[in-house]
This record gives sequence, C-alpha cells and structure tokens, in this order.
Amino acid sequence: MREPFIYKGTIPRIVFGAGTVARVADELLNLGRQKALILSTPNQETEARTLAERLGAVCVGVFSGAAMHTPVEVTLEALQVFSDRGADCVISFGGGSTIGLGKAIAYRNDAHHLVVATTYAGSEVTAILGQTENGVKTTVRDASILPETVIYDPELTYSLPVNMTVTSGLNAIAHAVEGLYAQDRNPISSMMAMEGIAALHAALPAIIGDPGDPAARTDALYGSWLCGVVLGTVGMALHHKICHTLGGSFDLPHSETHAILLPHTVAYTEEAVPHLLAPVAALLRTDRAATGLYDFAFGIGAPTRLKDFGLTTRDLDRASDIAMRNPYWNPRPLDPVAIREMLQMAWEGARPGSS
Ligand code: NAD
Repeated sequence: MREPFIYKGTIPRIVFGAGTVARVADELLNLGRQKALILSTPNQETEARTLAERLGAVCVGVFSGAAMHTPVEVTLEALQVFSDRGADCVISFGGGSTIGLGKAIAYRNDAHHLVVATTYAGSEVTAILGQTENGVKTTVRDASILPETVIYDPELTYSLPVNMTVTSGLNAIAHAVEGLYAQDRNPISSMMAMEGIAALHAALPAIIGDPGDPAARTDALYGSWLCGVVLGTVGMALHHKICHTLGGSFDLPHSETHAILLPHTVAYTEEAVPHLLAPVAALLRTDRAATGLYDFAFGIGAPTRLKDFGLTTRDLDRASDIAMRNPYWNPRPLDPVAIREMLQMAWEGARPGSS
C-alpha cells in the first residue's frame, strides 16, 4: 500500500546542457546582479579566469583559494576580497570545495550565488554547508545557503580525471541510495533517486572508455543533479554520518571515502529494509544491492580499501566509538559490534557477504 508522505521541493533554477556556460551573463542579469566575484580552487584558476574574461565588466575578480572542507580562514579572506571589489554576487566554478566557499559567503552576507558545477558531488542543490574551524567540521542547514542558480554544462566535466569521475559518481549514487530509505522519503525523491542511479550506472563505465564521450558525460551530470536533489531534500543516515566522521576526524578524502564505504553501509542497512533497496538490486541485476554496488564499484576501478588511505585498525576502533557517540536514526539501529565489523570489511576491501 502507498505510504503517506510530505513533499516540499527546494530546487534552485537549473540550466542544463552542453555549452550552457555561455549563459552565465544572462543568468546574472536574470538575478539582477552585475558585479560577480568568481570562486575556484587553485586547480581550476585558469578556467575561472577564462570565464572572467568572457564575462567582462560584470565580473569584478577571481578568488582561487577555495579548499576542501571550507576552512573559515579562507572564507574570511574571500569575504574581504568580495567587499574590496564591491561584488554583489558570487559564482562558484567547480566542485563541492568551491561551492562550499560560495555557500559560506552567501550564508554570511546573503549574496546571490550562481554555481557552475563541474563534479558530481551535488552540493550545488543543497542548503547544507559544512565548514571547518580549528580542525573541527560543523554543518549548518539554512535556506540562505541554497544557491539561486545552477549551470550544468557537461563539456566542463570532460576534464574531470577518470579516477575522480568514478569516486564523485559513486558519491552521488550514495546520496540517492540513502534517500531510498530516508525516514522522510517520498515518491518524488525516490523517483529522482532511481533515475539518478540508473543514469550514473550507465554513464560511468562509458566515461572510463572515453572521458570525452558527450552522451555519457551528459547523462552522468544529469544523474548527479538528481542525486544531489535527493541529498538536499531528505535526511541521510548511517552512510553519510560515518563518512562525515571519517572525513572530519581522520582527514580522509571525501569522494573516495563515500566510494569505499557505500557497499558496506548498504550491507549493514539492507537486512532491515531489503524491500526499499530492491529497486537498486534489480537495476544491478543481483539479489542484494550491497554486493551489486560492490561489484559495480570494483568493476569501474574505484578504491575499495580504507587501509590504502593510511587508516589503522586502531583508527577503526576510534571511528566506531565516535560514530556511536552521537546516535542518529538508521533503518537498522546502530550496534557498536556490527559497526566495527562493517568498518573492518571496508578497511580490508572485502566483498559484502564474503565473511
Ligand atoms: P572538490 O571540489 O574538492 O574537487 C576536487 C579537485 O578537482 C579540485 O582540485 C577541483 O578544482 C578539481 N576539479 C573539479 N572539477 C573539475 C573538472 N571538471 N576538471 C578538472 N578538475 C576539476 O571535490 P568534490 O568531491 O566535488 O567536493 C568535495 C567537498 O564538497 C567536500 O568538502 C564535501 O564535504 C563537500 N560536499 C558538500 C555537500 C553539501 O551538500 N554541503 C555535498 C557534497 C560534497
């Protein structure tokens, strides 16, 4: 029988398609803005400056100091540049790190925020900001954090290295998978989740074959948008919490951690809600979503072992302690022994169900 639900959409304006980066000036006009500060990481500074040249007078500068986990000191530096240049909005050109900086600025000064998204992390469509101060990562959720406009131009993703494409794509799939069993799931979020997973499942192997495949890059970005909307609209559970713990307390890289953990967190949770994960298992042509996700990730060359990222078994003890310290809802309640076993499997890179 159909379950009761509450649905509330919170999607920014989306401009999607090859070549749409050329529409940035029109979209600024649409927002009534004419003095944009472009943000990027040092890695994407050249592309950010190309965009600045294209924008001409409506761009007042480029700040290329964005960094992973949105350090507050970088935000303060960027805010100074924002006011020195008399900017009236920000354009984040990049992935989650750059978008985090744009959100941190908008959260503090209510600036309009246009995103040109170049990875599959999904941050551009959420009202969530994670930032770090004195080594502590905190998360805030506020309507002012949701960007106003997002431009998805698949041509800008051709340059995303294949290894990052794989882990970023699995990061997106993780949002959608957790959305399927969220307490506040609804028919729209579940449809978006399955459409997003299917698009990425088809696109990622094709991109490995040809990183510049226009159709595959377009499908992957489309899938990542849908998965990002799921992340932004329903609550996450064990998978995201444990990745947050590992990222925040052990400085593990974001998308790689998601890629490694996903089959294991799904194995943990699936036994409580097999019916909610059955569509994923069916898509992957298997009877368990967890093994299907493991085989898919392995097949596209994703990292599979936490131990390859410098984590020790003693760290696993501490990680499971931290994970248990702030209990949160999960379809299968958190059990310290089972969580520790799950982390061990992920550390070793074992296939779920193999021990
Ligand atoms: P990232 O933004 O850190 O990008 C990784 C590197 O790839 C950077 O050097 C970047 O410049 C480069 N890069 C990005 N796109 C490229 C492209 N098309 N071609 C070449 N190089 C490119 O990585 P990410 O995984 O997108 O973001 C991770 C961060 O985002 C983490 O801090 C995470 O916590 C945050 N995040 C936040 C949310 C949210 O809703 N708040 C959601 C997802 C991720």
